Amino acid sequence: MSFCAFFGGEAFRSHFEPGIYVCSKCGYELFSSRAKYQHSSPWPAFTETIHADSVAKYEERPGTLKVSCGKCGNGLGHEFLNDGLKRGQSRF
Ligand SMILES: [Zn+2]
Repeated sequence: MSFCAFFGGEAFRSHFEPGIYVCSKCGYELFSSRAKYQHSSPWPAFTETIHADSVAKYEERPGTLKVSCGKCGNGLGHEFLNDGLKRGQSRF
């Protein structure tokens, strides 16, 4: 389970600016398409958030953080530590 719920139909309608993904609830800017990359999973993968406080995180289990909107707390998915393009990078 990752961003499949967040990026299902609902999220794309609240896609207010090309290349910027926002919270489907409050519209807060979360990710830029610049940080988007191709991943083997069917949903978009990102390496970084737009703002340092775009998302709130807490450790769900070692290496996996539960990610939610930094403003309204809407559940977004998970951040997988060290699963990004480069060593030490995260995948959202
Ligand atoms: Zn929000």
